[in-house]
Amino acid sequence: MARYTDAVCRLCRREGMKLYLKGERCFKEKCSFETRKGKIPGQHGSGKKIKKPTGYSLQLREKQKVKRIYGVLEKQFRHYFEKADQKKGVTGHNLLGFLEQRLDNVIYRLGFASSRAAARQMVMHGHILVNGKRVDIPSFQVKPGLSVELGRRAKENDTVKAAVETAAGRGIPQWLSLDAAAFKGQVVSVPSREDVTLDINEQLIVELYSK
Ligand code: SF4
Repeated sequence: MARYTDAVCRLCRREGMKLYLKGERCFKEKCSFETRKGKIPGQHGSGKKIKKPTGYSLQLREKQKVKRIYGVLEKQFRHYFEKADQKKGVTGHNLLGFLEQRLDNVIYRLGFASSRAAARQMVMHGHILVNGKRVDIPSFQVKPGLSVELGRRAKENDTVKAAVETAAGRGIPQWLSLDAAAFKGQVVSVPSREDVTLDINEQLIVELYSK
């Protein structure tokens, strides 16, 4: 599966906001977005300020930002948009709903992993059960009513235990329920727009793809 493998902190600086791609480091002082604030990445970036984009570039940047947050490449992102457009309701909200219901994102939101990248790895390594059956596809859509549970080996992993403890302190979104002791969660409803608290303007993406 193709995925972005370059340094990820530069993506936050490129988009001008924290995208939370590196787990616990994102919440600490050494987050490079904080330490190198206002600097765009690249050889000549150190002296430059990030310019405010306009028009098309504003729409493009918004799409890139959301793709990077959820770790989705262009082809799959476009596919989500087409599905969102065909579905009843507000296209932008539908798009975010599809992204939120990806299995790797659900694992991250439940606090079983400190980042979406770590969650994706857990899924691909076969550590996740959906309704009791092993699922190793990160893009699997977890619909309301389905339960998500860690496999036996993952439950005994100290890194996972620490991630769950830390995440419990931050709380989980209301569209999910969690039994932290059993390392088990459930999608109780379709995520609403209000559940996505990151600074995203999905309407710009709709405008970009509707040209
Ligand atoms: Fe972004 Fe996290 Fe890196 Fe900070 S530590 S720049 S939030 S990926």
